[in-house]
Amino acid sequence: MLANLYGITGKDQYLRLAQRFDKKVFFDPLAAHRDELKGLHVNTHVPQVIAAARLYELTGDKRYRNIANYFWDEVTGERSYCTGGTSNFEHWRSEPGVLSTELSPLTAEDCCVYNMLKLTRHVFAWSPQASHMDYYERVLFNHRMGTIDPETGTTVYHLPHGNGYSKIYAKPFDSFWCCSGTGAEEFAKLADTIYFHDDNSMFINLYIPSDVNWTEKGIRITQQTSFPAEQGTTLTISAGKPVDVDLKLRVPYWAKNGSVKVNGRLLPTFADPGSYLVLRRPWKNGDRIELSLPMSLHVAPMPDKETLQAAMYGPLVLAARFEEEPRERWYRHFTAAKEEKPSSTLQFKGQLNDPSSWLEPAGGKLAFRAVSQNQTVAFASLSSILHERYSMYHEINESNS
Ligand SMILES: [Zn+2]
Repeated sequence: MLANLYGITGKDQYLRLAQRFDKKVFFDPLAAHRDELKGLHVNTHVPQVIAAARLYELTGDKRYRNIANYFWDEVTGERSYCTGGTSNFEHWRSEPGVLSTELSPLTAEDCCVYNMLKLTRHVFAWSPQASHMDYYERVLFNHRMGTIDPETGTTVYHLPHGNGYSKIYAKPFDSFWCCSGTGAEEFAKLADTIYFHDDNSMFINLYIPSDVNWTEKGIRITQQTSFPAEQGTTLTISAGKPVDVDLKLRVPYWAKNGSVKVNGRLLPTFADPGSYLVLRRPWKNGDRIELSLPMSLHVAPMPDKETLQAAMYGPLVLAARFEEEPRERWYRHFTAAKEEKPSSTLQFKGQLNDPSSWLEPAGGKLAFRAVSQNQTVAFASLSSILHERYSMYHEINESNS
């Protein structure tokens, strides 16, 4: 806030005051690329890195940029679950890359990823990488979209990654927490970050029905899709006269066999997963781009335990869905979760790197089922699970498969 105040006013006093809050014991190891995050409270530290990012933008001091980039890489690469969520009991409690011991009902506080999305916008703006937006999509479609109750509009505090818990939503009048505040901001910002532009190109980062008007260039792009139910998107151009800009479409890391048509004609080339497909031409009114992004099953193993895995379909984490909780358990105080015990980890026989060996489509959109030793288990996208108990991480046993 103080850095932003300096940005708005240009008064040095606010810059000096902002920098009085630089926490040396936190920033110095990050600047030296050492992960000493274990033991820290997550959501009081992510905003300090957002401040570092902003101070780099305002002062040009590369140390701040270095801190922000290293922190972003470390948290998203070493300290995030399959949903993109981070934290357990509000803290980083393990060494980097150790998450199999960090499964509980109080994992992945909402505010932490909310603030990580803010930080992602900064690091992306300095040097746009598809991996930044792969992370953004992972968080948005699994964590954030899966943490609001459509009936009351209240949000959860933690997204449980431990086995057999359910989401606990705030009560409308007497159980508010920090994540109620960031939740209110978050769901008013769903249109953020779908598009970015630089001098002469538009980045189409996220596949969400929307409309963007780049007034300086005189071009408007309308995006129509029901993604992720639909495996792709369609963009239509509106322009008074032909406009010579590059359109950069993100090809997600999970899209192995994508293709694109422009005005109905299939282009002979495409881009690798995890990069941007660049389309160059003068764009004219009515031009139409159809992007196909086929989804398939893949795994998100624990970084420290390969046999403990979550299954994913395209960008979506698939969770085993158990019985619905009685209504009186939907809206509670989050501390109630501390008293609950996890259910045992489900075991499936199959190949470690191929979830189609133990998971199959079950008819209907985004529905799957798996067969364990003694039961058939229904799977659905995590964000579609509202009041049922669920589990995301399962033990895959290759023997006898
Ligand atoms: Zn919070």
